[in-house]
Amino acid sequence: MCTCMSKRSFIMSATAAMLYPTFSKAQNTDAIRALSGKLNLDAFKSNNAARISTNQKKTVFVIGEDAFLSNEKFEAEIEFDNDGVLKKLKVLSGQALAALKPINRRSTELLLPNSTASVRGTGFFIDVDVSKPHDYICCCYGEIQFNNSTSGEKQHLKNSYHSATAINERGDLVSPKFNFPYGHYDDESVLLENSVGRKPHWQLPDNKMQFLSPTPLPAI
Ligand SMILES: [Zn+2]
Repeated sequence: MCTCMSKRSFIMSATAAMLYPTFSKAQNTDAIRALSGKLNLDAFKSNNAARISTNQKKTVFVIGEDAFLSNEKFEAEIEFDNDGVLKKLKVLSGQALAALKPINRRSTELLLPNSTASVRGTGFFIDVDVSKPHDYICCCYGEIQFNNSTSGEKQHLKNSYHSATAINERGDLVSPKFNFPYGHYDDESVLLENSVGRKPHWQLPDNKMQFLSPTPLPAI
């Protein structure tokens, strides 16, 4: 029997946190800022935790030295340490492309409705739509370890150039039904990494980016 939290429960628990926040006058929100677009930020629970959302088609924002490009449906809860390093990212809805700083022994917890994962310094893309049974994730470069709450199995995604998977309600990694790539582009990853002074640590086929955004990139 599946012991994982249902998508509805996943959202309800987050909503409860929003209804009963514990605000502090000394919220550590300096680590979080938008570079393009508008980031809605509600701090709660502690000085180093917040709920964030974006309502524009493309918003670029940073948390410490991690960079994100999200869509208008993106909502998440985050926790970070006193150095601004993201410790936990709970995605409630929407899409986001992420570029996490490679840090020795880094293990940022990624919570999706259907799965939890540990993320190393990694570029990844997530799409969470609670009206659909599957979550979608692409490990664009780097390493993600998934923890299946039903079977207890751990599964690795490790690669140097885009490895996409869907996650069903049992927490199993299954083949996605989307054409590849889905919802994100190579030049967007470059934009994110550059915004925090890095380059993607991928291996490009033929030394060329294969997937370029058909629309202009956000100006940052
Ligand atoms: Zn990708």
